Amino acid sequence: MNLLAVSDVVTGYGPTIVNRGVSLTLAKGEIVTILGPNGAGKSTLLKAIVGLVKPRAGSIVFDGDDVTGLSADIMATRGVVLVPEGRKIFVDMTVEENLRLGAYPRRDDDAIEADLATMLAFFPILATKQRDKGGSLSGGQQQMLAIARGLMARPRVLLLDEPSLGLSPLLVKEIKAIILDIGERFGASVLLVEQNAGLALSLASRGYLMQNGRIVVSGPIAELRDMS
Ligand code: ADP
Ligand code: ADP
Repeated sequence: MNLLAVSDVVTGYGPTIVNRGVSLTLAKGEIVTILGPNGAGKSTLLKAIVGLVKPRAGSIVFDGDDVTGLSADIMATRGVVLVPEGRKIFVDMTVEENLRLGAYPRRDDDAIEADLATMLAFFPILATKQRDKGGSLSGGQQQMLAIARGLMARPRVLLLDEPSLGLSPLLVKEIKAIILDIGERFGASVLLVEQNAGLALSLASRGYLMQNGRIVVSGPIAELRDMS
């Protein structure tokens, strides 16, 4: 059963159409990737799925419910969470404060405390920096924090926008190991947008190639590998 089903979604900004009827699915436990050149509309599609951009047409169904057009806050409460491109953490807040903010859709305070400890154990690089400001972290540490903050919402679907952008090969390896573990450790399915096709193809079981706002190829990863 599909956890997420995007059907014929159209998006745009003002007079500009970005996504021209995009359909894709994500099943429980899957890591699925969306590849494609800059400007193809990948980020905008992720924003539409989490409610940051309103679809102009089409539908988004999550866990059997039509969630088309719901706000980002409601989508986060339901467990659909975006880790946006560019390590958008709060630089003036500590690592711990950033993580607590990630739990904003939740009300289960005791579980949040426990998850904070879990997250610091899962990201040892953050544990040593718990009381440091986000802005004092390296780029790679900020990316880890952005992912960990997303996980604090207890997502059922985690959307990752370019998590490896600008990271050294060593950090890309670390990010890869973390993404591979997200399903098992945190029970979230992953929709991954990546410039680094090698990384995306090594992580995902299925993928989509987006060009000019449309899906032009979709299928198991072996087929996408031959295309790229
Ligand atoms: P990708 O993630 O594939 O690089 P984006 O979804 O970021 O593509 O962008 C698709 C197109 O939409 C690009 O031409 C981009 O400039 C444009 N775009 C993105 N965000 C906005 C915005 N807030 N306002 C206007 N145009 C935008
Ligand atoms: P993001 O990281 O959010 O995918 P970018 O880094 O490309 O997007 O752009 C940063 C901000 O500028 C975003 O809020 C995005 O929506 C907006 N933006 C991107 N392209 C355009 C554009 N062509 N016109 C206006 N705003 C844009």
